[in-house]
Amino acid sequence: MTPIVLDGGGNMTKYYVTRNAQLNGDHEVHHEFCAWLPLAQHLQYLGFFADCASAVREARKHFSQSNGCAFCASECHTR
Ligand SMILES: [Zn+2]
Repeated sequence: MTPIVLDGGGNMTKYYVTRNAQLNGDHEVHHEFCAWLPLAQHLQYLGFFADCASAVREARKHFSQSNGCAFCASECHTR
């Protein structure tokens, strides 16, 4: 397993949120390099963010129950 290193040093990353909720109702927030990124047609583009917390905050404007992806945004993933 290669750990995903999210650069907190000001590099901006594109983030997306899934249009379709998980079974638990969560809309997952992914960055553009996530291995589990769904097909583009299932994604709502959020924009460039420095960290997943900002991306999840934006995602909640679209879907109130948004959560960081457990794989690519684990520090923003709650359950
Ligand atoms: Zn992800």
